[in-house]
Amino acid sequence: MKNERRPAKKSLGQNFLVSDGAIKGIISAVMADDGLPVFEIGPGRGALTVPMAAGGTQIAAFEIDEALAEEAAGRLEGLENAEIVLADIRDVDLDAEAAGRGWDGYALAGNIPYLLTSTMLLGLPSLERCRRAVIMVQKEVGERVLAAPGSRNSGILPVYLQSYLAIKKVMTLKPGSFRPKPKVDSIVLVFTPVSRENAPGNCEGFLSFLKSAFSQRRKKLANALRAVPGIPERTELEKLSGVDLGCRPEELGLEEWFALYAAVAGCEDDR
Ligand code: SAM
Repeated sequence: MKNERRPAKKSLGQNFLVSDGAIKGIISAVMADDGLPVFEIGPGRGALTVPMAAGGTQIAAFEIDEALAEEAAGRLEGLENAEIVLADIRDVDLDAEAAGRGWDGYALAGNIPYLLTSTMLLGLPSLERCRRAVIMVQKEVGERVLAAPGSRNSGILPVYLQSYLAIKKVMTLKPGSFRPKPKVDSIVLVFTPVSRENAPGNCEGFLSFLKSAFSQRRKKLANALRAVPGIPERTELEKLSGVDLGCRPEELGLEEWFALYAAVAGCEDDR
């Protein structure tokens, strides 16, 4: 048990789950009774990995810290259905990993370091084989993700994620659920793919458009969009999309975003 004496690495967001209730709640959201295999991001000492594997779930967990990877692997000894992979999750193509294992679909679980939150969340819509993702985020970020497009707290994360995913809060966790204790509360969210008729098929293109549109959120959309290369002029774009570009970006609902992006992308295709 030499690793239990190693100090947790703050730079890797090492706050380990110690609350049985939280561990059970997260596992039940990940498993959801459909027997999907699981990819886990950052197993740490195996707080989630070991009970899931012991219940028979197929699981592969990606850990960047060699000593922790060894410790978790030691706890999984004898369980053929579980594997710890020493890797930086940012270099892992989860869909390709799933294909290599013969998994058509998988659930994704992660009590992830807060530094990775945006990267991981923004990657979710393009994961084709991911059927469900259960991700822990800082409470404020979770609240932002859940904000309704068209409301004051709207932004890139809620518009982009809600375009492709249904998002539900599972639980809120206080710092006492972890060792060492983080400074902030956390929220566990479940993301499930949804098919919205008008959501752009090119999700990466849509994300880059949203980044431009929200680049000057206090200003009118017409101003922010001027920087988008090759964009039609304002009256033309308003006519094509039916969206008033005198609005600020947080005022637009999902369908308005879809219509606006369709108009912009349509003009790009015509060139
Ligand atoms: N799942 C464990 C738990 O709930 O107790 C550990 C969670 S801890 C918040 C985050 C884990 O992610 C740590 O084990 C850390 O070493 C690992 N980690 C940090 N950055 C990572 C990265 N880029 N790729 C893979 N794992 C990473």
